Amino acid sequence: MKKPVVIAFALFFWAFPTFAGDAGALYQFSTIQALMEGVYDGAAPVGGLKARGDMGLGTFDALDGEMVVLDGKVFQVKSDGSVRVVPDELTTPFATVAFAQPTIVKDLGPVASLAELEKAIDALLPTTNLFYAVQVHGRFAALKTRSVPAQKKPFPKLTEVVKTQAVFPFRDIAGTLVGFRSPGFSGGLTVPGYHLHFLDKERTRGGHLLDCTFAAARLEITVLPRWNVELPERGAFAGSDLTRTREEDVRKVEK
Ligand SMILES: [Zn+2]
Repeated sequence: MKKPVVIAFALFFWAFPTFAGDAGALYQFSTIQALMEGVYDGAAPVGGLKARGDMGLGTFDALDGEMVVLDGKVFQVKSDGSVRVVPDELTTPFATVAFAQPTIVKDLGPVASLAELEKAIDALLPTTNLFYAVQVHGRFAALKTRSVPAQKKPFPKLTEVVKTQAVFPFRDIAGTLVGFRSPGFSGGLTVPGYHLHFLDKERTRGGHLLDCTFAAARLEITVLPRWNVELPERGAFAGSDLTRTREEDVRKVEK
Protein backbone atom coordinates (compact mmCIF):
# COMPACT_ATOMS: atom_id res chain seq x y z
CA MET A 1 0.00 0.00 0.00
CA LYS A 2 1.37 3.44 -0.90
CA LYS A 3 1.98 5.94 1.89
CA PRO A 4 -0.84 8.43 1.10
CA VAL A 5 -3.35 5.56 1.10
CA VAL A 6 -2.15 4.36 4.51
CA ILE A 7 -2.38 7.91 5.87
CA ALA A 8 -5.89 8.29 4.44
CA PHE A 9 -6.98 5.08 6.17
CA ALA A 10 -5.38 6.13 9.45
CA LEU A 11 -7.10 9.52 9.24
CA PHE A 12 -10.44 7.92 8.56
CA PHE A 13 -10.29 5.75 11.67
CA TRP A 14 -8.95 8.61 13.76
CA ALA A 15 -11.77 10.92 12.62
CA PHE A 16 -14.51 8.29 13.01
CA PRO A 17 -13.71 6.32 16.15
CA THR A 18 -17.31 5.09 16.34
CA PHE A 19 -17.02 3.57 12.88
CA ALA A 20 -18.32 -0.02 12.93
CA GLY A 21 -20.18 0.72 16.15
CA ASP A 22 -17.24 0.83 18.57
CA ALA A 23 -18.58 -2.27 20.28
CA GLY A 24 -17.19 -2.72 23.75
CA ALA A 25 -17.11 0.98 24.62
CA LEU A 26 -19.23 2.75 27.18
CA TYR A 27 -19.82 6.31 25.98
CA GLN A 28 -20.63 8.82 28.67
CA PHE A 29 -21.55 12.49 28.33
CA SER A 30 -20.69 14.63 31.40
CA THR A 31 -20.31 13.26 34.93
CA ILE A 32 -22.64 12.25 37.74
CA GLN A 33 -21.00 14.89 39.97
CA ALA A 34 -22.07 17.59 37.53
CA LEU A 35 -25.65 16.30 37.59
CA MET A 36 -25.59 16.07 41.39
CA GLU A 37 -24.46 19.72 41.56
CA GLY A 38 -27.33 20.91 39.36
CA VAL A 39 -25.60 21.15 35.97
CA TYR A 40 -28.80 20.37 34.04
CA ASP A 41 -28.06 22.46 30.92
CA GLY A 42 -28.53 20.35 27.82
CA ALA A 43 -25.12 20.47 26.16
CA ALA A 44 -25.22 17.68 23.54
CA PRO A 45 -28.00 16.66 21.11
CA VAL A 46 -29.49 13.20 21.71
CA GLY A 47 -29.05 12.50 17.99
CA GLY A 48 -25.31 12.29 18.63
CA LEU A 49 -25.83 9.57 21.24
CA LYS A 50 -27.26 7.26 18.59
CA ALA A 51 -23.85 7.08 16.89
CA ARG A 52 -22.32 5.99 20.22
CA GLY A 53 -24.78 3.32 21.24
CA ASP A 54 -28.21 1.77 20.75
CA MET A 55 -29.04 1.28 24.42
CA GLY A 56 -28.56 3.33 27.55
CA LEU A 57 -29.92 5.98 29.87
CA GLY A 58 -29.69 9.59 30.96
CA THR A 59 -31.79 12.70 31.32
CA PHE A 60 -32.72 15.80 29.31
CA ASP A 61 -32.17 19.56 29.27
CA ALA A 62 -33.38 21.08 32.57
CA LEU A 63 -33.66 17.53 34.02
CA ASP A 64 -36.92 17.04 32.14
CA GLY A 65 -37.56 13.36 32.87
CA GLU A 66 -35.68 10.08 32.52
CA MET A 67 -34.01 8.98 29.27
CA VAL A 68 -34.25 5.37 28.10
CA VAL A 69 -32.34 4.35 24.96
CA LEU A 70 -33.55 1.06 23.59
CA ASP A 71 -33.15 -0.55 20.15
CA GLY A 72 -31.58 2.67 18.86
CA LYS A 73 -34.49 4.91 19.86
CA VAL A 74 -34.35 7.60 22.54
CA PHE A 75 -37.39 7.74 24.83
CA GLN A 76 -38.33 10.39 27.39
CA VAL A 77 -40.29 9.36 30.49
CA LYS A 78 -41.74 12.60 31.87
CA SER A 79 -42.67 13.15 35.50
CA ASP A 80 -46.38 12.89 34.57
CA GLY A 81 -45.63 9.31 33.51
CA SER A 82 -46.02 9.91 29.77
CA VAL A 83 -43.48 8.48 27.31
CA ARG A 84 -42.43 9.80 23.90
CA VAL A 85 -39.72 9.28 21.32
CA VAL A 86 -37.71 12.51 21.30
CA PRO A 87 -36.42 14.50 18.31
CA ASP A 88 -32.66 14.30 17.65
CA GLU A 89 -32.23 18.02 18.40
CA LEU A 90 -33.33 17.70 22.03
CA THR A 91 -30.28 18.05 24.29
CA THR A 92 -28.94 16.13 27.27
CA PRO A 93 -26.85 17.19 30.28
CA PHE A 94 -25.92 13.57 31.17
CA ALA A 95 -26.22 10.27 29.35
CA THR A 96 -24.46 6.91 29.00
CA VAL A 97 -24.89 4.60 26.00
CA ALA A 98 -23.29 1.51 24.43
CA PHE A 99 -23.96 -0.95 21.64
CA ALA A 100 -25.67 -4.12 22.84
CA GLN A 101 -23.67 -7.13 21.66
CA PRO A 102 -24.37 -9.57 24.48
CA THR A 103 -21.94 -12.39 25.14
CA ILE A 104 -23.47 -13.45 28.46
CA VAL A 105 -27.11 -14.51 28.03
CA LYS A 106 -28.95 -16.26 30.83
CA ASP A 107 -32.45 -17.01 32.13
CA LEU A 108 -32.92 -15.50 35.58
CA GLY A 109 -35.45 -15.92 38.35
CA PRO A 110 -37.33 -16.01 40.51
CA VAL A 111 -36.04 -12.67 41.84
CA ALA A 112 -37.74 -10.86 44.75
CA SER A 113 -36.06 -7.45 44.65
CA LEU A 114 -33.59 -5.21 42.80
CA ALA A 115 -30.95 -6.08 45.40
CA GLU A 116 -31.49 -9.76 44.64
CA LEU A 117 -31.29 -9.10 40.89
CA GLU A 118 -27.99 -7.26 41.34
CA LYS A 119 -26.58 -10.17 43.33
CA ALA A 120 -27.75 -12.69 40.70
CA ILE A 121 -26.10 -10.72 37.87
CA ASP A 122 -22.89 -10.15 39.86
CA ALA A 123 -22.54 -13.92 40.26
CA LEU A 124 -22.36 -14.27 36.45
CA LEU A 125 -19.70 -11.62 35.82
CA PRO A 126 -16.08 -12.60 35.21
CA THR A 127 -14.91 -9.51 37.15
CA THR A 128 -16.48 -6.44 38.78
CA ASN A 129 -13.63 -4.25 37.52
CA LEU A 130 -15.07 -3.77 34.01
CA PHE A 131 -18.18 -1.96 32.78
CA TYR A 132 -21.18 -3.98 31.59
CA ALA A 133 -24.22 -3.07 29.55
CA VAL A 134 -27.26 -4.85 30.99
CA GLN A 135 -30.65 -5.69 29.53
CA VAL A 136 -33.30 -7.76 31.31
CA HIS A 137 -36.37 -8.69 29.25
CA GLY A 138 -39.39 -10.13 30.99
CA ARG A 139 -42.74 -9.82 32.64
CA PHE A 140 -42.41 -8.22 36.05
CA ALA A 141 -44.87 -9.14 38.83
CA ALA A 142 -44.09 -5.79 40.48
CA LEU A 143 -41.87 -2.95 39.41
CA LYS A 144 -41.31 0.58 40.70
CA THR A 145 -39.84 3.49 38.73
CA ARG A 146 -39.45 7.21 39.20
CA SER A 147 -39.12 10.29 37.06
CA VAL A 148 -38.15 13.87 37.84
CA PRO A 149 -39.87 17.12 36.84
CA ALA A 150 -38.19 19.77 34.64
CA GLN A 151 -36.34 22.35 36.72
CA LYS A 152 -36.13 26.14 36.53
CA LYS A 153 -32.98 28.23 37.03
CA PRO A 154 -31.26 28.62 39.41
CA PHE A 155 -31.18 24.80 39.32
CA PRO A 156 -31.43 23.06 42.71
CA LYS A 157 -29.12 20.15 43.49
CA LEU A 158 -30.26 16.66 42.58
CA THR A 159 -30.62 15.71 46.27
CA GLU A 160 -33.32 18.43 46.48
CA VAL A 161 -35.04 17.51 43.20
CA VAL A 162 -35.56 13.84 44.11
CA LYS A 163 -37.69 14.96 47.07
CA THR A 164 -40.26 15.98 44.43
CA GLN A 165 -39.81 12.89 42.18
CA ALA A 166 -42.88 11.05 40.89
CA VAL A 167 -42.90 7.33 41.79
CA PHE A 168 -44.75 4.85 39.56
CA PRO A 169 -45.65 1.45 41.00
CA PHE A 170 -46.57 -1.16 38.34
CA ARG A 171 -47.99 -4.66 38.59
CA ASP A 172 -47.71 -7.44 36.01
CA ILE A 173 -45.88 -5.38 33.42
CA ALA A 174 -43.82 -6.67 30.47
CA GLY A 175 -40.77 -4.77 29.31
CA THR A 176 -37.02 -4.27 29.48
CA LEU A 177 -34.58 -3.08 32.11
CA VAL A 178 -31.72 -1.27 30.42
CA GLY A 179 -28.56 0.18 31.89
CA PHE A 180 -25.09 -0.48 33.23
CA ARG A 181 -22.98 -1.97 35.95
CA SER A 182 -19.99 0.23 36.66
CA PRO A 183 -16.94 -0.66 38.80
CA GLY A 184 -16.70 0.66 42.37
CA PHE A 185 -13.68 2.77 41.40
CA SER A 186 -15.73 4.74 38.82
CA GLY A 187 -17.75 6.50 41.57
CA GLY A 188 -17.81 10.27 41.22
CA LEU A 189 -17.61 10.17 37.47
CA THR A 190 -20.54 7.80 37.06
CA VAL A 191 -22.96 5.81 39.23
CA PRO A 192 -20.97 2.90 40.72
CA GLY A 193 -22.74 -0.46 40.71
CA TYR A 194 -26.06 -0.86 38.88
CA HIS A 195 -27.97 1.96 37.22
CA LEU A 196 -31.04 0.70 35.38
CA HIS A 197 -34.00 2.34 33.64
CA PHE A 198 -37.18 0.61 32.47
CA LEU A 199 -39.39 0.77 29.40
CA ASP A 200 -42.49 -1.36 28.97
CA LYS A 201 -43.23 -3.43 25.88
CA GLU A 202 -45.80 -0.94 24.55
CA ARG A 203 -43.29 1.93 25.05
CA THR A 204 -45.86 3.86 27.08
CA ARG A 205 -44.51 3.50 30.63
CA GLY A 206 -41.06 3.56 32.21
CA GLY A 207 -38.54 5.50 34.29
CA HIS A 208 -35.50 5.12 36.55
CA LEU A 209 -35.75 1.70 38.21
CA LEU A 210 -36.22 1.67 42.00
CA ASP A 211 -37.27 -1.95 42.56
CA CYS A 212 -38.58 -5.04 40.75
CA THR A 213 -39.85 -8.59 41.29
CA PHE A 214 -40.19 -11.30 38.67
CA ALA A 215 -40.58 -15.04 38.26
CA ALA A 216 -38.46 -15.38 35.13
CA ALA A 217 -36.58 -13.04 32.79
CA ARG A 218 -33.88 -13.11 30.14
CA LEU A 219 -30.59 -11.39 30.98
CA GLU A 220 -28.25 -10.05 28.28
CA ILE A 221 -24.80 -8.72 29.23
CA THR A 222 -22.33 -6.89 27.00
CA VAL A 223 -18.79 -6.57 28.37
CA LEU A 224 -17.42 -3.03 28.00
CA PRO A 225 -13.65 -2.80 28.45
CA ARG A 226 -13.50 0.80 27.14
CA TRP A 227 -14.88 3.96 28.80
CA ASN A 228 -15.17 7.10 26.70
CA VAL A 229 -16.06 10.25 28.64
CA GLU A 230 -16.96 13.50 26.89
CA LEU A 231 -17.29 16.69 28.95
CA PRO A 232 -19.70 19.59 28.24
CA GLU A 233 -18.23 22.73 26.71
CA ARG A 234 -21.54 24.58 26.98
CA GLY A 235 -23.68 25.49 29.99
CA ALA A 236 -22.79 25.66 33.68
CA PHE A 237 -20.30 22.77 33.66
CA ALA A 238 -17.16 24.92 33.31
CA GLY A 239 -18.09 27.27 36.16
CA SER A 240 -19.25 24.66 38.70
CA ASP A 241 -17.40 23.26 41.72
CA LEU A 242 -17.40 19.54 40.94
CA THR A 243 -15.07 18.40 43.71
CA ARG A 244 -17.48 18.21 46.64
CA THR A 245 -20.01 15.51 45.67
CA ARG A 246 -20.28 12.76 48.26
CA GLU A 247 -20.69 9.23 46.97
CA GLU A 248 -23.32 8.45 49.61
CA ASP A 249 -25.46 11.27 48.16
CA VAL A 250 -25.21 9.65 44.70
CA ARG A 251 -26.39 6.37 46.23
CA LYS A 252 -29.31 8.14 47.94
CA VAL A 253 -30.39 9.84 44.72
CA GLU A 254 -30.14 6.76 42.52
CA LYS A 255 -31.61 4.06 44.77
ZN1 LIG B 1 -31.40 6.93 36.33
